[in-house]
Amino acid sequence: MTPSNPSKETPGFSRNPPRTWNAISVSERFRSLFGTGKLLVATHREPVIVQTIPKDSSPEGEALKLRYPAGGVSQSLHRLLLQTGGDWVSLKSSPGPSSLEITLPGYPATYNLFRISIEDSSRNEEYQRFSNDLLWPLFHEEPGRVGARPGDFTGYEMVNRLFADHILRITRNHEVGVLWIHDYQLTQVAKELRSKATAVIPPIAFFWHIPWPRPEFLANLPERRDLLEGLLDYDFLGFQTALYRERFLESVARDFSGNTRVTVSPRLVVKDGRRIHVGDYPIGVDPIRFESLSLDPKGQSDARGFLREHGIGPEERLLISVDRMDYTKGFLKRLQILESLFRNFPEWIGKIRLLQIAPLTRSGHSTYQGYQKKVRDAVMTANERWRRGDWFPVVSIEQTVEHRILAPLYRMAAGALVTSTNDGMNLVAKEYLAAQKDEGGILFLSRYTGAAQGLREAVLIDPFDPSTAAAIIHRALGEPLSIRTGRNKILRDQISRNNIFQWMGSILTGIHAAELEKRDRAEKSGAG
Ligand code: UDP
Repeated sequence: MTPSNPSKETPGFSRNPPRTWNAISVSERFRSLFGTGKLLVATHREPVIVQTIPKDSSPEGEALKLRYPAGGVSQSLHRLLLQTGGDWVSLKSSPGPSSLEITLPGYPATYNLFRISIEDSSRNEEYQRFSNDLLWPLFHEEPGRVGARPGDFTGYEMVNRLFADHILRITRNHEVGVLWIHDYQLTQVAKELRSKATAVIPPIAFFWHIPWPRPEFLANLPERRDLLEGLLDYDFLGFQTALYRERFLESVARDFSGNTRVTVSPRLVVKDGRRIHVGDYPIGVDPIRFESLSLDPKGQSDARGFLREHGIGPEERLLISVDRMDYTKGFLKRLQILESLFRNFPEWIGKIRLLQIAPLTRSGHSTYQGYQKKVRDAVMTANERWRRGDWFPVVSIEQTVEHRILAPLYRMAAGALVTSTNDGMNLVAKEYLAAQKDEGGILFLSRYTGAAQGLREAVLIDPFDPSTAAAIIHRALGEPLSIRTGRNKILRDQISRNNIFQWMGSILTGIHAAELEKRDRAEKSGAG
């Protein structure tokens, strides 16, 4: 494996970060920090959806068409790699070959996508169950929804090992400057890499995208120690917020209490002499892109067409919600809030509708099927109860809406209703603000989102207290435009500064600083 070569002196590199980060400044920063070393990203989910199209005249018989899934983070990482070049490893979830070179017109670089197929279907099921039926509910503090089986960790480890094998193969073929592994499905990759590598490994960073729960939620998890040990095999750990970082450190401190080989401080864990840097890096969005999409005349006209298609008139006052239909997003709480609004403030009946964009997620899964049925039933009940003539209060659309249409819809809506009961960040909240240039749309933001920990000026609501939330909504909708636009200006400044590129830039800078510190210490101890 080729060792990474982060330079201490980086010619042409300003120590001060740019005032506003963008894709180009991040890629320049990456180059200046990691020289010729490539960026290797690993995620559970692929950044593209491959479709094969029969091609009559082609000798190969078919052509490939790429589509891009919904999801802020993967699409921003995708654009970063199209600036810097690099590699991406993920599970293959659509047809096509096992590796692809990804290009996009207008972008200077290309990257290689390596697509892992899991041949052993029972191990795959165990991996999926351990990730989605155990880690997902437990880390969202929903222990009642845990549905994994004893032994599932074996499949989880096996899939993490497959990722490590692929990564090692890539690092043998060319110089990798940094490995950046993502999320709860891949906690064991660093451990597997370290057990197999025969040469120096570049810095291994990990980002935990979902909440870190209060430690008592992990108390009865048999694999807790494996997870913590796995995470401490990374060099650099990122969490969405200070609260999640602190809870993680508390979990480590509790689990290793009395172990003199492990010390925990606010941003550092030292384990067996290895230093693991731990930071909080709230993810952002690309506000410039959302703002311009929200103002695009063709997008606006298509968004009006979309509303018409769903029976919504051009002048209607709307509250919008945009979430995968997952139980952590608080769909039932949101409908209770709407009920309270109509019951306590009947002047809104016939005057405001909820446009609920709710693409289905994991719907092959019985927990989700049950939840999704409850949501549909609750929508039907609300629509029957509050219907007045042709008007009914909830338009629920169970399909993915592309950003080109979504951004103008955000702009047209009088408010966005984010009701997650527990959410690592919630990008929709930030996208909604990005679409509010000179507009007074109100972000009603659940206090149980990572976003609420940063956006203190937002109108915060508690989804567990529907009648207070309804009163807050009633009051805010009646505020003068100047108050609403003034609030949005503050919030929009925040999301512009803390955008997705700032997130990437500061993480890459942090990884590099940690690597320099490691070298300094090694040199000093060698000299001493
Ligand atoms: N999204 C989309 N179309 C949809 C629904 C969602 O493009 O119909 C995108 C949305 O714009 C956002 C992402 O999916 O970028 C959802 O991110 P968030 O952090 O809000 O929730 P997550 O799904 O990651 O829990």
